[in-house]
Amino acid sequence: MIRLEINGWEAHIGFSAAHILPEHDKCGRLHGHNYAVHARVEGFKGEQGFVLDFIPLKEKLRAIAQELDHRVILPAGTVKESENEISIKLSGKRYVFPREDVLLLDIRRSTAEELAGYILKRVIEELEIPDSIVAIEIGVDESRGQGAWVKKKL
Ligand SMILES: [Zn+2]
Repeated sequence: MIRLEINGWEAHIGFSAAHILPEHDKCGRLHGHNYAVHARVEGFKGEQGFVLDFIPLKEKLRAIAQELDHRVILPAGTVKESENEISIKLSGKRYVFPREDVLLLDIRRSTAEELAGYILKRVIEELEIPDSIVAIEIGVDESRGQGAWVKKKL
């Protein structure tokens, strides 16, 4: 078994985004992070001598990071939508954002854990993954040295 790793800090795969974590003392206020997105792939070498081509995986991670970049990331189920605005009520506060500034994701909260799970799901759905791959793991750091990893066995 071989493990490949892409480090988002070193490979410059990341995004800047704002979020709010409801009912959290400090993170319950709107704030942002410079996130990095990492990947680990476990599998066996194919006939060409490698486990997975790094390039399409990096391109996919970059494309997803680009979608998240410079947005306010909110869980889709928690907001009210009007034509031009997205509003959200959290812990007695009401935020209203221009629609174009917001990215609504099918997650429960915009934590690093949930963002890693979202990116992992996208990678598995959208990337052609050879049978020789046994697991894919995505990590999302909110800052250097602080992040969450989600792994899926294939
Ligand atoms: Zn935060």
